[in-house]
Amino acid sequence: MKILISNDDGYLAPGINALAEQLATIAEIVVVAPDSNRSGSSNSLTLDRPLRMQRAANGFYSINGTPSDCVHIALTGMLEQRPDLVVSGINQGQNMGDDTLYSGTVAAATEGFLFGIQAIAFSQVNHGWAELDSAARLARDIVLRKLDSLHQPFLLNVNIPNRPYAALDRIVATRLGKRHESEPVIRTKDPHGNEIFWIGPVGKAKEASEGTDFHATEQGWVSVTPLQIDLTHNAQLERLRQVLE
Ligand code: MN
Repeated sequence: MKILISNDDGYLAPGINALAEQLATIAEIVVVAPDSNRSGSSNSLTLDRPLRMQRAANGFYSINGTPSDCVHIALTGMLEQRPDLVVSGINQGQNMGDDTLYSGTVAAATEGFLFGIQAIAFSQVNHGWAELDSAARLARDIVLRKLDSLHQPFLLNVNIPNRPYAALDRIVATRLGKRHESEPVIRTKDPHGNEIFWIGPVGKAKEASEGTDFHATEQGWVSVTPLQIDLTHNAQLERLRQVLE
């Protein structure tokens, strides 16, 4: 098995290192990741400047671009053979509900999926790497699951609670929950008195009922959500047709 690994926290992040270490025990791996933290970059591609790749001493490749750039370049201009799987993470912090639209972690996996390759995004719930090795072992377990019976290619979004491996004994299939709208931007001044803005924190969970990713991780379970990219609101389609036609 060949696995392409990326992330959005950057190639130096502990999360991608732990994930690569675990997956190297079961597959041939290549790591191609942003050279800096690109969290929140969603599916953006860099179109206004050329990109450069560097190889670190540990064999990881870094690119001065986004997570999507990294997977895109690896698949279309670097790897001689298509990987069997694209894996992203392990992200520092959860990617649940609406987070998935902003997440560079999910985007890296999505880029693989858009090229017809099965893909999995891994995130650890809550910041701090206390149980990172547990999360990485669990990620390896999920990659080894019999996923071939899923519709191909698949795109999975996995959120792993920050708990010891022995406590990660329940893995459940979930749907995305929803958040309240984000907290307001933080408006302040730089040292020269000029106005600056910091994007504020995400909203709290709003739709966190049973069956959602929020609910599962709240119980301490590992949440696995199958994602798709077609954003069409099918229930709205007929109403719109009536308005327009
Ligand atoms: Mn991140």
